[in-house]
Amino acid sequence: MNNFYNTNTQENEIKVHVTELILTPLTCSTIINEVIKYLLYQKSQIPYPYNWLKSVVKKKRTAEHADEKSVNFQAERHYTTVSTAYDSLEKLMNSITSEFEMYGTNINRLLIIFGSSIHTAKEIYTIRIPSLAFGHLEENHVRINCKHQHKVMRNIVFSDAWVKAMNSSFPPTNMYVLIEKCDVKHDGQKTDLDFQLTKQYSMCSRVKNVCIHLSYDENSKHNCCKNLVIFEDLKDKENSNINDASNSNTNDTTDEVIEKMLWFQSKTFIKGFKECFINGVSATDLW
Ligand SMILES: [Zn+2]
Repeated sequence: MNNFYNTNTQENEIKVHVTELILTPLTCSTIINEVIKYLLYQKSQIPYPYNWLKSVVKKKRTAEHADEKSVNFQAERHYTTVSTAYDSLEKLMNSITSEFEMYGTNINRLLIIFGSSIHTAKEIYTIRIPSLAFGHLEENHVRINCKHQHKVMRNIVFSDAWVKAMNSSFPPTNMYVLIEKCDVKHDGQKTDLDFQLTKQYSMCSRVKNVCIHLSYDENSKHNCCKNLVIFEDLKDKENSNINDASNSNTNDTTDEVIEKMLWFQSKTFIKGFKECFINGVSATDLW
């Protein structure tokens, strides 16, 4: 039995220290969205890399009504699947970006969960969020951060833990995103937000959990943006406690630190799917 508890050890950890770029909320959410794009493709949940997915859907949308090809119902049905997955992914990524924009100081970690539901997870990818660089004007950093972002991604996807994790496979299932926030003043149910307050989430220790620890020195001095706003850092004092709590795989949810943590689940999730071939031809070629 003890073997089961070895799944969440250091071999599933990816430590990435971000130095090449200023880790603003927008940059951090962009990195997370990139991780999601890689995961969906590399775990064979979507049979096309993100850029291809985007281009086939866009091509079909602009071509619609342009010519009167004879309709192949199987191909059309596949288009509905692909196009729904694309729209959900776009929506989910925008929601993650908004969450970081609004609550970046309070986000402790983000979970990407594969499974038919969050409680029947097959695999979990956890991204631990460090204290971010606040008060910067995002537009001053978008270009330079985009340029260096691939270095962060390279550190993640070429790490041993990542490569090993990509080798195991499971059939297409759903992908959910959960965000854990601390010290959030919960202002009722803002139903227009994609991320909704949910119950405390405790991970089953038997489920494979690959953890990406992003670290960043937010105290480094920059003279890039005028009048940097200094925020009181709520996370530091919480972080030491949280790490202690999450390192022990117990079900002890009565811990008072954990009680301060709130979990938010995205209403939007991604439904994985397989490529569809019709007489040996990809359905996307028949759209
Ligand atoms: Zn700046």
